[in-house]
Amino acid sequence: MSIKMEFKQPTVLAVDDIPSNLDILVAHLIEEDVELMVALSGEEALALVHQRRPDLILLDIMMPGMDGYEVCRRLKQDPSTADIPVVFLSARDNEVDMEKGLSLGAIDYINKPFSIPVLKARLRNHLALKQKGDKLAELACTDELTSLMNRRHFNQVFRQEWLRAIRNKSQLSLLMIDVDHFKAYNDRFGHTQGDACLQAIARVLSMGLRDPADAVARFGGEEFVVLLPDTDREGAAKVAERLRRLVLAEALPHPDSSGCFVSISLGGATCSPEQNMAELALLQQADEQLYRAKRHGRNCYSMEHRTWQD
Ligand code: GH3
Ligand code: MG
Ligand code: MG
Repeated sequence: MSIKMEFKQPTVLAVDDIPSNLDILVAHLIEEDVELMVALSGEEALALVHQRRPDLILLDIMMPGMDGYEVCRRLKQDPSTADIPVVFLSARDNEVDMEKGLSLGAIDYINKPFSIPVLKARLRNHLALKQKGDKLAELACTDELTSLMNRRHFNQVFRQEWLRAIRNKSQLSLLMIDVDHFKAYNDRFGHTQGDACLQAIARVLSMGLRDPADAVARFGGEEFVVLLPDTDREGAAKVAERLRRLVLAEALPHPDSSGCFVSISLGGATCSPEQNMAELALLQQADEQLYRAKRHGRNCYSMEHRTWQD
């Protein structure tokens, strides 16, 4: 398999109010390894961007209604679109306009009329850079061993869900998970098999979560964390028990564990977030419950009983 096949074909959005300008781009970029979309106005472009998230935008400046500057400003203000490279294609070839476009966050500014080969070369370079950036962003979020979300990314997701729960006045639950007697597992079978065991547990935990909003991350070492938005204490307890059973059902032999198989202990906490509450408190409560589960003999879960008002 060639390296190219590992990546999806990049998507480019061309925006221009004059259809013949778009025709020229379509005619020439058809030979490039890109999927081309077109929009005839700034408004249409923004709607398309939110639907399809292109890898690059070729943006005209002078358009009736919303001009290219405003489109760029809005894209850069929105964290979900800020990383999409914008290349201005404009007949305005003066220093002031070029400086303005680049200062708004555009990656490049190309004057019309442009040379097709130069445009194509620049496009390829920008797309290659975007691909590298995407890959790096993905690596920065992913735990290398298990391919789960890493702790760094989990913290971001936790923050978002916390704010969402406050906004929606909804409940938010969290489960801390720790593999039982894992030091002994490593000591007996070696680190490589220990790693394989963590990978198997990560798979089971991912598959055991049914709601797309649920998130599982490797918290560190042999600890995992599960975030359950819109989930009350009873719901979280059900998930905890399901995950515990699923891991045990994998029947990974562990002669040094009382049950003879690899098991997990879980600690859970639920909150109805209030404005002044520290989100770390939820993590701490789940952690306390995890240690309670450990003291109870492992291979079980313990849920926070108190409410925030206590
Ligand atoms: P407990 O039931 O109380 O949780 O006991 P434990 O042995 O699991 O807990 P402890 O914290 O003493 O040991 C955790 C072990 O997890 C230590 C280390 O050998 C192992 N571990 C942590 N991270 C990794 C990893 O990435 N790969 C492997 N193979 N082992 C790891
Ligand atoms: Mg541990
Ligand atoms: Mg452990």
